[in-house]
Amino acid sequence: MRAPLLAVILLAACGGDDAQTTPDASADGPDASAPDAADEPLVPTANLAREVIRTELMFDVTTRMATARITVGPSAEPGMTLEVGDLTIQGVQQSLADSVAFNVINRRMNLALPASSENLTFVVEYQYKLHEDFNGQSADGYTLLWPYHCGNLFPCHSAPADGTEFTLALEGVPAGMTAVYPTTVSEAPSYQIAWSVDEYTEVSLGTTDAGTEIVVWHRPGEEADANAGTDNLVAAFNWLETTLGPYRFGPKAGTVSVGWGPGAFGGMEHHPFWHLADGALSSDEVNVHEAVHGWYGDGIRYACWEDFVLSEGTTSYLAGRILDVVNPPVGAQVWQSYAATLDAIPGNLKVWPQTCNEIDIIGDNLFTNAPYMRGAFFYRALALKLGATVVDDILHDFYMAHAGKAARMSDMLALIQSKTGYDPTACAQTWLLSTTKPTPGPCP
Ligand SMILES: [Zn+2]
Repeated sequence: MRAPLLAVILLAACGGDDAQTTPDASADGPDASAPDAADEPLVPTANLAREVIRTELMFDVTTRMATARITVGPSAEPGMTLEVGDLTIQGVQQSLADSVAFNVINRRMNLALPASSENLTFVVEYQYKLHEDFNGQSADGYTLLWPYHCGNLFPCHSAPADGTEFTLALEGVPAGMTAVYPTTVSEAPSYQIAWSVDEYTEVSLGTTDAGTEIVVWHRPGEEADANAGTDNLVAAFNWLETTLGPYRFGPKAGTVSVGWGPGAFGGMEHHPFWHLADGALSSDEVNVHEAVHGWYGDGIRYACWEDFVLSEGTTSYLAGRILDVVNPPVGAQVWQSYAATLDAIPGNLKVWPQTCNEIDIIGDNLFTNAPYMRGAFFYRALALKLGATVVDDILHDFYMAHAGKAARMSDMLALIQSKTGYDPTACAQTWLLSTTKPTPGPCP
């Protein structure tokens, strides 16, 4: 994500949204009358540890009816828990003849699934609501779920470490409108899934050496901005594929302009078709930033919310690094802009909290410019010490080791040391942990 201004909107949006309790109005609960002790019926049971393996989604964007065919992993314990936000669950079926009992408590759905040594699949039918605070589907046609609002669109696990395979299909798209979305997404965090419905024109920008087609979808009147912002995108994507490793999210990727509205600037890493606020469409930096998330943030997920800097710091660095290579004048402008942003950040903002999933990334104020810019300048300091191509090689090795999985910032520091012999602890202390804002320069 590249959306400092959006932070304000998200903060405002989150107040008062977390106390809603949804009593189970439609639960097909267990029959309370005289269960047979030898053959007790399964009852809805919380099981937060059971993993989601695959999520196949079908939405009617007009009636807002949806089905989610969900495959979950083996579990020695019965039950299954999914986040369901403000969805209205109409039924859960394991087969045509076999419905699954469930309840909904505190925006979580617990299912009556047995313990199993194999994957289990069930289908949830539900209705979803519109959301105008960047936490679901907007009436303006786009979805945005980051950081933990997937439950307002489909039954899910929002923790970024939990990657699942997705398929997506949309129906009910109004005549004259185009729905831009991927039909399949390999293992991804739930916030990566998105669509946008608008009056789109698709422009092919070219093809990388690896054969990935790069495109941009713009709306009426946006052609000039789309051209200006994407003129380095094929070269940047080519750099990513050749320097870091193969792209994971299909043969076609690109920018989608979305109408986030006045004041919103930035983008969201909805790979393979990432979203940019219309106000950011002409920015080379934001276009490349969202592309980089295909490797860091999506391709490699953050293991804990506290590892946000592994996504945004690495991505911000790489956007500057790539533009330095493919268009040096633009790269220089990006680093000047980063320096000004860094200068404006209070020194005491958190960059890399040393816990794991003990914070609320919004409520505890980690979603600020600090992880982006102090993260970027940490890698910049490393590049000034070791050489930029050495840092490229580190980011390649890290991607090849962790692609499709979750990782921690501490894993990155360990790889830096094991690969180069240089101990980055003091440099990381300066840039990622200290409450004194450093001056840009090489690591000690
Ligand atoms: Zn980002």
